[in-house]
Amino acid sequence: MLTRNLLFLFFIANQIFAQNESLKKLDESLITLHKRTLFNGVVLVAEKGKITYQNSLGYSDLAQTQKLNLQSSFNLASVSKQFVAMLIMIQKDKKMLNFDDLISKHLPTFPYPKITIRHLLTHTSGLPEYFDLADEYLNTLDTLTNAKMLKLLAQYKPKTGFAAGKKWEYCNTGYVLLASIIEKNARMSFEEYFQQQIAIPLGLKNTYAFYLNMKKPDPRSKNRVIGFERKNGKYVLNDLIRLDGVVGDGNIYSSAEDLLIWAQKLKTLVKSETWKAATTPVKLSDGSTEDYGFGWELDKDIISHTGSWVGFNNCIEINEKKQTITIVLTNGSNEKAVDLIPEILEGKKVKIPVSKLIQNINLIDGTGTTSRLASVRILEDKISEVGDLQPFEEEGVTDGQGKVLAPGFIDSHSHHFGGLSKNPSGLPATNQGITTIVIGQDGGSYPMDTLESDMKYHPVAINVASYTGHSTLRGKAMGVKSLFRTAKPEEVEKMKGYLEQEMKKGSLGLNTGLEYESAFFSNKDEVLELAKVAAKHGGRYMSHIRSEDVNFVEAMDEIINIGRQTGMPVQISHIKIAKKDQWGKSVEVLAKLQKARSEGINITADCYPYNFWNSTLRVLFPNRDYTNPESAEFAVNQLFDPSMSVLVRYAPEKTFAGKTVSEIAAIRNEKPSETLMKLIAEAAEFEEKYPDFDEGIETIMAKAMDDNDVANFISWPQTNICSDGSSSGHPRGHGTFTRVLGRYVREQKLLSLETAIYKMTGLTAENLGIQDRGIIEPGRYADLVLFDPETVIDNADIKDGKALSSGIMKVWVNGELVLENNKPTGIYPGVLIKRQINE
Ligand SMILES: [Zn+2]
Repeated sequence: MLTRNLLFLFFIANQIFAQNESLKKLDESLITLHKRTLFNGVVLVAEKGKITYQNSLGYSDLAQTQKLNLQSSFNLASVSKQFVAMLIMIQKDKKMLNFDDLISKHLPTFPYPKITIRHLLTHTSGLPEYFDLADEYLNTLDTLTNAKMLKLLAQYKPKTGFAAGKKWEYCNTGYVLLASIIEKNARMSFEEYFQQQIAIPLGLKNTYAFYLNMKKPDPRSKNRVIGFERKNGKYVLNDLIRLDGVVGDGNIYSSAEDLLIWAQKLKTLVKSETWKAATTPVKLSDGSTEDYGFGWELDKDIISHTGSWVGFNNCIEINEKKQTITIVLTNGSNEKAVDLIPEILEGKKVKIPVSKLIQNINLIDGTGTTSRLASVRILEDKISEVGDLQPFEEEGVTDGQGKVLAPGFIDSHSHHFGGLSKNPSGLPATNQGITTIVIGQDGGSYPMDTLESDMKYHPVAINVASYTGHSTLRGKAMGVKSLFRTAKPEEVEKMKGYLEQEMKKGSLGLNTGLEYESAFFSNKDEVLELAKVAAKHGGRYMSHIRSEDVNFVEAMDEIINIGRQTGMPVQISHIKIAKKDQWGKSVEVLAKLQKARSEGINITADCYPYNFWNSTLRVLFPNRDYTNPESAEFAVNQLFDPSMSVLVRYAPEKTFAGKTVSEIAAIRNEKPSETLMKLIAEAAEFEEKYPDFDEGIETIMAKAMDDNDVANFISWPQTNICSDGSSSGHPRGHGTFTRVLGRYVREQKLLSLETAIYKMTGLTAENLGIQDRGIIEPGRYADLVLFDPETVIDNADIKDGKALSSGIMKVWVNGELVLENNKPTGIYPGVLIKRQINE
């Protein structure tokens, strides 16, 4: 016996301890949340008739002069519904109505013949929401009332969602009608009857109905709690709107103290069998049940309800078994807190949201507007406030030292992904301020599923978004060894199927690399057919076009036509003029693109700020005739400058790396055109000998563009900046964005700083269809870069392609600091960004 008693005692003590622990945790959490302006309200917890916890934090008025307390009357929002249901039950007990009465018996103009009071109580009527009715039929300056709502129903008789009793679908309209029925049967106003039947008998001192334009507002309503929200450091009104001339679905006001009495005594107001009906799950016409009674959500021993309406977020929970009552009433931007409180009380481990403040900055927000002094607050992974902000108690503060804070740069054409597996910090990207790379470029991509699991199991510092590559689709449908031909119709069908799947998984769209052999032999119809699939799914088209030199004009016509035929936005990758006798024609090219835009075609471009490209030697033969001496001569004269073009890598003869084509020609005692042909032939032999060699056999950085053209392309209002870079090779992989900021903005004054930032952020997000990034404003993800506009510059060049940039001070990705003074922090918050799918 002794043992049993001891055990029993231990059990009780443990339970009390646990209860105290969770209340202690609740108290700490509420105080922290309040300090972070995430909680403004009242919480009351009672057990076995005694209050075990109460706390009121914050204010009841916009001016923040009246402190909240247990007597403060909040708009209950949907927690009002249980009071309306109670009045119906009272009238039922008084034999003024039956639950299965048709509505038309009480409200003769009600136009739906089969809907009953029970349907309204249990959200099974199928009636449309009155918000939608008001939107469609009510003058925007008119206040909706119960009478007007009934009139709109009678006049327009909008279609119901389903036959009454067939389904459960939350419906506010039903409770407005119930209030009208109560009023009619009572032969007095709803608010008077409410006082007479509930508030006075229970002794509720601060509970009453209040709505707009009422005849005799309760004098206590002068002191009612006002709804507000915090916006950019200031409190603004967020209270009753034009729909609040109705009562029944909401607009009953009560205090925590009164709600406790209500929860304890509500059963005494009606017969016990009536109350039993209110807490029995509603039965649908097919025999199934839904866990909702009359104005209460049901869950075993717990009845509860939440309520949220402009400015207010509330909940009440009664646990019959544990004999606990929990009341939460709030009037601010408190959604997070209202979600967390029940979890804390259940003893669950929760994470209280942490904010941090970046102060003393010159804000360039990514929209192109002029810089301004401001502070930015980050809450978890998003920007929560922008403006004149003071730090909260114990808040982490970063002093921006008056430097520029901009959205993290989005690289619309990147090859950095491969380097992330070795170095997840993404330093080549972050050192230039890039926070998001867009991959799947030049026709080559990974499946979205592969990217998803890769990012999950090997976290990285930067975000990744991807297109689906045309050449990759061809490889899957035609076999990687047989791409040098047009696809057969059945192969195109296969590609369409693959593309469709990828679009559904969040790919940004179709991406082609038509200049490369893997796609060069595709015909225009094949590309157009696939583009239509991307368009159908709300995607976009991006292309390394079929020719950047000899057939440049036709290549542009092809992409313009795709934009015209599909109606989707199309973008030319790394726009350039790579043929010498065409240099200087950028103005004409842009006029052509501008003309297409005036036709309504959404064509844009990206561009990197260098006059030399980085690719395979083979693209120097536009007709793919690598052994034709005439073509080689043409390449040397028209397509690149052999004396300024350096081999980045050359596997057959490693010592050639770092040398120009002219230098190699001199060593071999050949003409440069001859060397060019031989280098390609020897590389092909090498590939045949070592088919599994996967590091890339040859790459050249070829000087092929005119600086003026590059400047013109970058300045075009529709051009966003891209790197086309990777973690090695061409210096653009480490210095594109800082090069634009240092050389084009500060030194040459080609662009204003605000315009340059716009071309790296807001415009890029718009061109690619990336949502919630690219602009600094509340609600967007906190991808940010802090830099010094006086010193920012690229240091990577042809000799040292990996030199880090200067002037990038800090980089945040999804609210986490990933780079500080060119040192990665080792934090990897990057996510896979998916196209927003609205299908
Ligand atoms: Zn390309």
